[in-house]
Amino acid sequence: MRRRIAVSAVVLLLGLAGCTSTKDPVASPSATAPSASVAPSPSDSPSPSPSPSPSASPSPKPSPSPTRAPSPKPPKTTAPTGPISCTGTATQSKPRATGNGPAGSILKTGTDAVALTFDDGPDPINTPKMLDLLKQCGVKATFCLVGFRARDRPDLVRRIYEEGHTLCNHSWQHLTDLGKRGHDYMLKDLKATNDAIHKTVPDAKIAYFRAPGGNFTTEMVQVAKDLGMTSIYWHVDPRDWDSSSYGRGSAMVRHVISSVEGSVRPGSIILSHDNGKPDTITAYRTLLPWLKARFELIGLPVETPLP
Ligand SMILES: [Zn+2]
Repeated sequence: MRRRIAVSAVVLLLGLAGCTSTKDPVASPSATAPSASVAPSPSDSPSPSPSPSPSASPSPKPSPSPTRAPSPKPPKTTAPTGPISCTGTATQSKPRATGNGPAGSILKTGTDAVALTFDDGPDPINTPKMLDLLKQCGVKATFCLVGFRARDRPDLVRRIYEEGHTLCNHSWQHLTDLGKRGHDYMLKDLKATNDAIHKTVPDAKIAYFRAPGGNFTTEMVQVAKDLGMTSIYWHVDPRDWDSSSYGRGSAMVRHVISSVEGSVRPGSIILSHDNGKPDTITAYRTLLPWLKARFELIGLPVETPLP
């Protein structure tokens, strides 16, 4: 009996640790998704307010990571800096990505082009670093923004937009049970997020939506559609938030690189996180040149959005 309780607790902690896995249990509103230790921004914890009004604030203190074992602190790794170079041309000839996301969401671009998507930001530390790498490689991507963070960092919303990347709504405060809160709540939440983005970039078209945790429901996809947004899932998920399974630092960097390189196909939508994920940024120093040498990389189309 005690063993079963212990196993359940571990499963629960693992579930709470991530925000994007389909394998996650649906987190309760009080769940706190911890961010990496260097994350300067608040965690994805929902505000106790039932209303996704622009005044809703995240809890100010990120919770410590729910690690299972009292392992020693991971060695400090110095993230590499400096410019990267992307020189290859697309030469990949693997079979195209197939399948559909849950509840009518999409997971492929519909062409051979591959779309990078970065979730949960904008993050004051990591988003600029990712933008720098993308600029050095001449690559456009898609940023799925959390509403309150977009409200708090208009400078980064503007930079993402002005540098030609695609904007995506990732809900106001990343409630992974958003789909259970009813039509009106979802509508208010998604609208508040678009409003926060539009306050900075009023002319920007927000053509895509991604459910927190990928927990789409048919009703949620319809609400997004009513607001002019296509719901996007993912074809490749390196689970870069899952440090319980993959570690941190160089171990996570290696994992993200091998996971993406092993799974990507022509047409893949790739999920990664810029918010609080310095190891992901480091991984993309290797991944961007590798991907660009093999695939056409696109920001998801805005003027004629994917259906
Ligand atoms: Zn997310």
